[in-house]
Amino acid sequence: MHELAVAQAVLDVALEAAAGRRVTRVELRVGALRQVVPAALAFSFELVARGTPADGAVLAIEPVPVVGRCRACGVESEQHGFPLRCAACGRLALEIVRGQELSVEWLELEEAGVSA
Ligand SMILES: [Zn+2]
Repeated sequence: MHELAVAQAVLDVALEAAAGRRVTRVELRVGALRQVVPAALAFSFELVARGTPADGAVLAIEPVPVVGRCRACGVESEQHGFPLRCAACGRLALEIVRGQELSVEWLELEEAGVSA
């Protein structure tokens, strides 16, 4: 199950960055080429985070569209499916410049020992 592996990788990054502090929110950028189903990823994250400092953390997923740069004319265009095609000249020789991201952008942590 693809999303479960992704969720585990996200959790590992979050827990390492949190260094033992409680994680309350994780913001992710996920490129369209990753073919991650957001609802499945959120569910998987909930499962793998159970019993860790990220238990109950909200997973916010920001989708990143696929953008290709044409090797022929150099124009960058947003892509909405396959085959990838240059929006300017119609050629199929595109270099992917965005859409493969899978990164933890931001973590919200609960500061330990802070009282009001
Ligand atoms: Zn082109």
